[in-house]
Amino acid sequence: MRRSLVVGNWKMNGSREKSRALLDDILKGLGQDLKSDVGVCPPFVHLPEVALALQGSSVLLGSQNVADQDEGAFTGEISALMLKEFGCRLAIVGHSERRIIYGESSALVAARYAKAIEHGLIPILCIGEILEERESERTFDVIGEQLDAVLNTAGVASLAKAVIAYEPVWAIGTGRTASTEQAQEVHCWIRSRIARLDSDVAENLQVLYGGSVKPDNAAALFSMPDIDGGLIGGASLDANSFLKICHSA
Ligand code: PEP
Repeated sequence: MRRSLVVGNWKMNGSREKSRALLDDILKGLGQDLKSDVGVCPPFVHLPEVALALQGSSVLLGSQNVADQDEGAFTGEISALMLKEFGCRLAIVGHSERRIIYGESSALVAARYAKAIEHGLIPILCIGEILEERESERTFDVIGEQLDAVLNTAGVASLAKAVIAYEPVWAIGTGRTASTEQAQEVHCWIRSRIARLDSDVAENLQVLYGGSVKPDNAAALFSMPDIDGGLIGGASLDANSFLKICHSA
């Protein structure tokens, strides 16, 4: 039985004070009887603040990206080793905002993913199609290519220490969620594709759904057999909404 995981991606929002207050509210509301794991990914510069507040809690700390290099002349990048110093356990890689707005290729995403694995951070590999690709029935070609880049670089065994997030780009921040059937179809496809290479890895792999998950649609999405939790953007910035989503998992 796979454990579910709900991760908040705070993106570039808030301030040190707001991140701290948001985390305090989340910690107060989580309670002991939670059946899922929970993670938060604040902006890089809020990591020290949030890491301090998380001491002694089981909530996982994550980053929103990770460098494909360990150190040196890579202006603007933050390495896995640096993130680990702040207690990060998770690292989002390949978020569609990185791929589309900042032009990160699947090869670069795979190199970032490989660095996370090498240093014991759990990469949350985001894959997903844009609307035009879905409408022209290329969803599986697109996510297949995004997945293959990682498999060819880091191998299928690496997925035993990773998480995948299926995030249809047309559903991110748009209020337009994939239907439970649409999401389940893709999640099942991802798991089957990995099962062809390693059935144990596929069976144990957590595949999260991301894209306008809200308190009122989370339970239905999370009840699908291949959806193991969510990567939550907008709704993770409101402690009450995020807590309701966590309690649905
Ligand atoms: C995201 O940014 O990963 C995301 C899923 O955002 P939202 O929940 O706002 O659609």
